Amino acid sequence: MHVIYGGTFDPIHHGHLRLALEISDRLGVAGINLVPCHIPPHRGDTGAASEQRLRLIELAIAGEPRLAVDNRELRRAGASYTADTLRQLRQELGDDEPLVMVVGTDAFAGFDRWRDWQQIPDLAHVVVVRRPGPGLDPSGQPASLLASRAAPDAAALHRQPCGLFLELDPPLLDISATGIRERIADGRSPRYLMPDSVWDDIRRSGLYGACPEGNF
Ligand code: ATP
Repeated sequence: MHVIYGGTFDPIHHGHLRLALEISDRLGVAGINLVPCHIPPHRGDTGAASEQRLRLIELAIAGEPRLAVDNRELRRAGASYTADTLRQLRQELGDDEPLVMVVGTDAFAGFDRWRDWQQIPDLAHVVVVRRPGPGLDPSGQPASLLASRAAPDAAALHRQPCGLFLELDPPLLDISATGIRERIADGRSPRYLMPDSVWDDIRRSGLYGACPEGNF
């Protein structure tokens, strides 16, 4: 089984990293591939450039054999569409290997606005991680897909290559990249919200407006 977990990771933090390990445990897989997007189609500019976000991920996962980074979206020009990434991966993995994408409810709420979203169940399974917040509109397409194609359990994802939706409710850390960027911009320390190696690099390179005069 091949599992991808995409996001802007602007920057990567302990919420992302813990979630990746929780998912790896619950799905019973050897590892998770983090896929940073190059140009997110559904939001404005990122705070850090793609290559900088990639470097922070590499620092964050160094020494953790269960986490890997897949930089394919950075190598593709233009907006990063998940369907394109899944199509590429499906070609590489062949027709039979289960392929899983992990997404939070906040991102999944807009699933029916993603490019080629109707093709996604023919390419992969979707694991939706419940996050605090408004949740899904019960009458919307994402909620109805989650219900009509629900996997009975995580083991079912191993038995077919694609097409199932599984909602998981793992423990989550209340950390967001937005909160981290805001703290840095205000001169407040975001330490302990992300690995020290990531914060050290942000500080050194002045990302997100970090500067030595800040209260760091
Ligand atoms: P931002 O605050 O900039 O929106 P973010 O911290 O939510 O960023 P993203 O890169 O947008 O991070 O998220 C990538 C994926 O990780 C999304 O599917 C999102 O739901 C999930 N995610 C983000 N933060 C957490 C967290 N603390 N715990 C679990 N999942 C998270």
